Amino acid sequence: MSYRILIYTYNLLFCAFFATALLGCGQGGGEESFRSANSPSMTVVKLRVVIAGNAISEDLLHQMLEISRSRFLNMGIALELAELWADEPEPDEMLELESFWKRQSYDYWKSRWDSPESEALLTIVYTRPLISNGVTYYGGWSEGECRPLGGFALIHTKPGHLLKNALADSHEKGHLLGASHDQSLDPPSIMHPDAGAYLGETEDAEFSPKSRKEIQRCIENIN
Ligand SMILES: [Zn+2]
Repeated sequence: MSYRILIYTYNLLFCAFFATALLGCGQGGGEESFRSANSPSMTVVKLRVVIAGNAISEDLLHQMLEISRSRFLNMGIALELAELWADEPEPDEMLELESFWKRQSYDYWKSRWDSPESEALLTIVYTRPLISNGVTYYGGWSEGECRPLGGFALIHTKPGHLLKNALADSHEKGHLLGASHDQSLDPPSIMHPDAGAYLGETEDAEFSPKSRKEIQRCIENIN
């Protein structure tokens, strides 16, 4: 069975809207609770993580979180696992590629985890791969750039694979923390729209200087 990367980000369609919304990132910011008690220069982003239908093991999840934690830590962002949930899998038909493009799977999970508490967290749901004509896809969706409070992403995982899942995970978190797509290939950036095609199975990835700048700007706005 072959796997292909599919990182699709809905936010591109909402560029203008979210460019405006970015200024609103500061709403509710400036609160002491949002800063790390140990390191005042760190911005804490609390994660609510959901594993749907045993898509990935808890062990793999923690390894993946460790990778994204270290990628964001050197930008002054401390990702903190605040909640960890297991949920039932979505109906199988939602794993069809068509359902993905119609954002049915995204809307299904978003509504399922939408609650008033969501506004204090970044919610990330990890679920099974998509499938179409015998080809299996992994990748992610997110909506909005610079949404450290109340942002939501759905990751279709590649079973048992650390770096590819970590790439999709960091890519979507990158969007939610302010980064747009970056076509640079020297080296390929985590935020490249087709990053999975350029980065080998065992290759590590980084945020480009452009992405780092955008993320810093997002974080400045919430401090
Ligand atoms: Zn993207």
